[in-house]
Amino acid sequence: MFQHKNSFKEAFLERLVNIHGKGVEETTLADKYVTLGSMVREYVSRNWIATNDQYRENGDKQVYYLSMEFLLGKLLKSNLMNLGIRDVCQEGFADLGIDLEEVEAQEPDAGLGNGGLGRLAACFLDSMASLHLPGHGCGIRYKYGLFEQKIIDGYQVEIPDYWLREGNVWEVRKSDKTVEVRFWGEVQSREEGGTIHFDHVNYEPVLAVPYDVPVVGYHNQTVNSLRLWSAESAIKDFDFGHLNHKHYHKMIEYKRATEAISEFLYPDDSTLEGKQLRLKQQYFLVSASLQSILCRFKRMHPNIKELPKKIALHINDTHPVLAVPELMRILMDQEGLSWEAAWSITTETISYTNHTILAEALERWPIDIMKPLLPRIFMIINEINERFCRSLWDEYPGEWDRIRGMAILADGYVNMANLAIVGSHSVNGVSELHSTILKQDLMHNFYEREPHKFNNKTNGITHRRWLMQANPGLTSVIKDTIGTSWVENPSDLIQLVPYANDPGLHEQLELVKKHSKGKLANVIQRDYGIKVDPNSIFDVHIKRMHAYKRQLLNVFHIMDLYRRLKENPNASITPRTFIFGGKAAPSYHLAKSIVKLIHTIANVINHDTSIRDQIKVVFIRNYGVSDAELIIPAADISEQISTASKEASGTGNMKFMMNGAITIGTNDGANIEMAEAVGMENIFLFGLKPEEVLAYYEHGGYHARDLYNRDPRIKTILDQMVNGTFVKEDVDFKSIYYSLIDYDEYFVLKDFASYIEAQAAIAKCYKNKTEWLTKSVYNIANSGIFSSDRTIREYANGIWNVKQVLIK
Ligand SMILES: *Cc1c(COP(=O)(O)O)cnc(C)c1O
Repeated sequence: MFQHKNSFKEAFLERLVNIHGKGVEETTLADKYVTLGSMVREYVSRNWIATNDQYRENGDKQVYYLSMEFLLGKLLKSNLMNLGIRDVCQEGFADLGIDLEEVEAQEPDAGLGNGGLGRLAACFLDSMASLHLPGHGCGIRYKYGLFEQKIIDGYQVEIPDYWLREGNVWEVRKSDKTVEVRFWGEVQSREEGGTIHFDHVNYEPVLAVPYDVPVVGYHNQTVNSLRLWSAESAIKDFDFGHLNHKHYHKMIEYKRATEAISEFLYPDDSTLEGKQLRLKQQYFLVSASLQSILCRFKRMHPNIKELPKKIALHINDTHPVLAVPELMRILMDQEGLSWEAAWSITTETISYTNHTILAEALERWPIDIMKPLLPRIFMIINEINERFCRSLWDEYPGEWDRIRGMAILADGYVNMANLAIVGSHSVNGVSELHSTILKQDLMHNFYEREPHKFNNKTNGITHRRWLMQANPGLTSVIKDTIGTSWVENPSDLIQLVPYANDPGLHEQLELVKKHSKGKLANVIQRDYGIKVDPNSIFDVHIKRMHAYKRQLLNVFHIMDLYRRLKENPNASITPRTFIFGGKAAPSYHLAKSIVKLIHTIANVINHDTSIRDQIKVVFIRNYGVSDAELIIPAADISEQISTASKEASGTGNMKFMMNGAITIGTNDGANIEMAEAVGMENIFLFGLKPEEVLAYYEHGGYHARDLYNRDPRIKTILDQMVNGTFVKEDVDFKSIYYSLIDYDEYFVLKDFASYIEAQAAIAKCYKNKTEWLTKSVYNIANSGIFSSDRTIREYANGIWNVKQVLIK
């Protein structure tokens, strides 16, 4: 049905009318989306079945990527492109007077993630399928994704994101694959034939029902699976006695509590939400996934000891680390293996990625919460801890502090990172710097004992979504210049280097960028009523709102520029449009006041005619994947200005680089590797080095108040925040003001001067078009190594030991 536009048109119209039961004329864009989406889903199923059949017949090793988050965004366009049928659809639609892009826009973003960690999981799925690798995702089918951000009077207001309202054309419910996950209850032991068996009794059963989403490889036959679990009550299996009044209420309460497990995604990025429901979600994901993975494995391989040869389980941060005790439980309690046998299988199967060194994000669960909820799992963790600590006592007699720091159970808490390190064969960081800090600092004692476990896998992004799909204009310019080999092999983008100074290429790049900026300017005018000039520098800072990401530093640069313009109204600067976007966790007050601050200064600056439109400030509300796809191609400057050592990698930085934006950034995360790749002359780095930041944390010696007293620019900015310059209404920014003057944990004031200098240099450079465009070409040319294809190849060879499987 997708071979030719005529057969496509015919099939589409028939479907459209059949599904919606109305004449073609009356159908809405949303109807058309559902129709095309379900046609594509169906079209995919042949290869989906073929892929599964082949994996089963060959008995190939499979990877399962366990993640509490998958930030997929929209799927129609990427599926059409990967299947190579988008042109046919577009032509067929054109005949029918339908705009394919408008139809694609109907799809709600699947916002089942907070930010970088969830988006990384989505990029990895795309790369695994596109590289013919048998790798699948396991996650939760949250009924509500990350909240929708509304802005009311400059404040963030959170609205539930009911993304499933109109159904989801991509998912297939697999009721027959339902498994049971058990909470609460007790563990009873009994002796049988000289061994002790443990039974989990009086538990509360929860049904885990899988919804499978196809993951389509690029121009190949591979269709992998993303299995998302939904929690349902097991009313039939749960003994309520007779349904009298009291039992009825108990049943309702049980149903409510059960369904709550897959109800919503926790909206915290880089902080730990230590709620019991969150722990329930984690075990629900892990237990359901492992049961179904083991069930498939056992149908094919009779010998359980083959598990590490046939299965790789990867845990995305510590959130799914209960996979360690859960696999132990299944291997011992169900498969009858000894502790020793189960332990070596478990550790050989599981690998772990650390995503952060922020103390507030390191997962620690109170034993008081975990033990009653997961009695058998806790027992196993306790035993892992006992055995591990015993070996530590032998190795480090008397070194209590060292042992306490490495123990899995300490001070009434379960330390999830320590469990992940002990229970897996590979621990990786997500950039060279981050992996080095893990080895030298956070996990130093573990590294000393087992250096072979530790490795680096620098993050990446799929160039198919972030370049080819998001920026078709740039994609065709690149193809016209160097051909198409980079599509399969993104490091071939390096072939652009000989054209770095090519005036013809510069002209085309400028045209493409202007077009993207115009498109974004129209959206800004339409949605925000702000007129921005596509000839101004588009200076973009989009990511979660967080103190360490330092949106404040950017705001202070804007305030400083504004002050200079006000003091000297005739001054002429290169006009700039500052674009922000990002959600703050609902309970993160400081981040929310920064959202308000941005709106407050925007409101003043955008309406001040005396500065003759030389600065505009825009906050894009409800930032998500689709917004990123619109904004990034339009960016001139990419703001990557986290406090050095705090951003484990960043992936936004890579998306901008691939789209030819110039980075202003700190020596942090993958920025450092981007600089190495592109050369210091093509990136604007500034500020404290990571080792300087870490030294200040360790030894002190930084006093923010001195800077306030010494640098009049800083004094003016801070004073203006609280003296009424910007704030006419009855709000103040005292909490921000004091957080800086009293402590400045993230070195905003410390890096201010060098940031302003870098911004001045970048503005000067922008004035020289040739120089700017040359830098832009170098950035695109050197961005290929940041494709997630490179990252996934490294995981496949270095950690998972999985091979490609070509689907016939
Ligand atoms: C890439 C991406 C992120 C991560 O951005 P960072 O700048 O690395 O924090 C967050 N949210 C969305 C929607 C993204 O696409």
